[in-house]
Order: sequence, then C-alpha cells, then structure tokens
Amino acid sequence: MDTQVLDCSAAGIAKAAEIVRAGGLVAFPTETVYGLGANALSAQAVARIFEAKGRPRFDPIIVHVAGPKEAEPLWAEVPPLARALMARFWPGPLTLVLPKSGLIPEIVTAGLPTVAVRMPDHPMALALIREAGCPIAAPSANRFGRPSPTHHDHVLDYLAGRIEAVLACGPTPVGIESTVVSLVETPPRVLRPGGTPLEALREVVGELRVDPPRVSQGAAPAPGTLPRHYVPQIPLFLLEPGPPEGREKLPRRRCGILAFRGEWHDFGRVEVLSQSGDLREAAANFFAALHELDRAGLSAIVAEPVPEEGLGVAIMDRLRRAASGRARLDDEFVWIVR
Ligand code: AMP
Ligand code: MG
Repeated sequence: MDTQVLDCSAAGIAKAAEIVRAGGLVAFPTETVYGLGANALSAQAVARIFEAKGRPRFDPIIVHVAGPKEAEPLWAEVPPLARALMARFWPGPLTLVLPKSGLIPEIVTAGLPTVAVRMPDHPMALALIREAGCPIAAPSANRFGRPSPTHHDHVLDYLAGRIEAVLACGPTPVGIESTVVSLVETPPRVLRPGGTPLEALREVVGELRVDPPRVSQGAAPAPGTLPRHYVPQIPLFLLEPGPPEGREKLPRRRCGILAFRGEWHDFGRVEVLSQSGDLREAAANFFAALHELDRAGLSAIVAEPVPEEGLGVAIMDRLRRAASGRARLDDEFVWIVR
C-alpha cells in the first residue's frame, strides 16, 4: 500500500475524511501526539489499527470527537459532572470514561463496558473529525513499543506502507498525553495523569482518586483499582488437539465454542470469528463473540486457537490471559485440564 502524504489544507482534510469514511487509516495531528485514526463505529476499521501498529495485544482506544454533542451518543448516560468537565476542559487533553452506548463496537474498548472519549485541541484534528462525520478511534501513530510520534516524519518512519495516509502538519504542540478520568466510580478516578492538571480537575470535581502509577506490564493490579481489561465471567479453556485427557469433563451442550472457523456440533452455542479465516475479521468480531458466549448461561467457553500471525498474535495473547486451562474434545464431552 502506498501511504499518501496529505497537505495540511482543506483539500488534505477532504481526502483524509474520505479515507476514514471508507474504513481506511489516517494518521493525524492532535495537540498531544499524532494519532492513528479509524472510523470508531466500524469494528473492521478499528481492527486495522492494531494490525498496522503491530500491537501484540488489544488495549482500549480513545475515541476522538468534535465536541460534547458528538460525545453524548457514544455514552449510555451522561451525568452532570461529565457535562461540567466537558464545558471546562474541552477541547483539550482530558479523556472521560463512562459506560458505552451500543454505537461503540467492542474492539474499541477491548471488551470493556466503558468507553474513553475526548475532544482534541487541534484545528486539523477537529476539521478531520467533522468532515469525516464520525467519531475517530485513535491511539498514538507509532509501531508497538516505539516512542509516540510528535511529527509526521516519525509517523512515516513507523507506518509508511501500512496506512492509507498521513496529514503532514509538522510538529505537535504539546507532546504530553491526555489525562484519563473514569466517571464510573464516585469519587471519580484518574486512570492516567496527563496534560490536564489534577489541581484544575479538583476545582470542578472536588474529590478525586488517583491510581497508583503502574509499575510494569503484567504487574498485579493494586487492590481497589478497576479492571482495565474485560475478563469473562465463566472459565475459558484453550482447545488443543489430542485424545481426551484429565479427570474433569463437561457435556458439550454446557459449553460454548469460540471458533476461528469451520463447523461445530453439539455445543450449547457456537461463535465463529471468521468463516473465511480472515484474521482481521476475526479480531473485529472477537470481543463481541466472547461477550455473547459469556452471557449465554453456559458453564464454560472452549476457544479454538488462531494462527499466530498478524492480528492472530493479539487474539492469542487475549485468549491465553483469559484461559483457566486447556481442553480436549471427544464426541460428547469437553475434557478439562486446569
Ligand atoms: P493511548 O493509547 O496512549 O491513547 O492510551 C489510552 C489510555 O486510555 C490508556 O491508559 C487506556 O488504558 C485508557 N483507556 C482507554 N479506554 C478506556 C476505557 N474504556 N476504560 C478505561 N481506560 C481506558
Ligand atoms: Mg500509545
């Protein structure tokens, strides 16, 4: 794919907006860093973000809007405190987390019931969102594990050939990420400190809880912190080939199967991620399928492994972290080894 370098002009914005509307990826400047944007209402478009970044796992992505009016339909409910914070701090580096509405696909929130939304303070970002006519999901426009890009040249170094276009608008003014605040709890909780100072937030919010800094990936969450990732309520077992093994078994009827592809029989519920074996489609469907199985009144989920290439790496990461053990099948039963 040739990555188009678009002028920081009305014509550039028009082209970028057209690409976003068509499900493509456009890197664009915000006041913090360059974002890698996709139509936030399209699961397939958002799946491509993870693919382009080469992220080995799914994380919830911030949704960018052109103003409070565009934010409100993305949330299930909008408390007065959210309105007060938007009025005071938007546009700007403040991201608000609230229960999501049905408009937001599950891959945007990595399966969480909440969505993070902000209005960036950058004229080109706002023009792009307005012209695209949809909210734009965007993490930083770097490859996984590399520093965030604060200039379109960095974006091209990382992502040339992997995305449709970049808006070439030079350096970003702030370079520090947004403050992320969850309004799901009372008092509200700061999930990530950033460009909006806590002192200023306290003037509007009053009491604020602040998460202890996260020491490293995979460190045990401090007591009382919100789960940052969706975990199924019923146990999940990774399917492996081979004859039945172990002493614990469940009838197939009591289990759901989260299948990559193919035909599956006798399970209580079957969710196929991609009949054609397309990993991008599988990623787009993944969290919604997991939720369906979790809510179906079953005893366990059996997950078929997917190929570990492209987005399959992130899917397998998620499955391994969700798994309580391994499963093997015979015609009647699911055999479990915890
Ligand atoms: P970035 O990828 O740098 O834009 O970071 C996004 C930040 O927002 C991360 O710290 C995420 O954990 C956080 N975040 C995004 N969506 C949610 C959500 N629904 N609930 C909680 N935190 C979120
Ligand atoms: Mg990032």
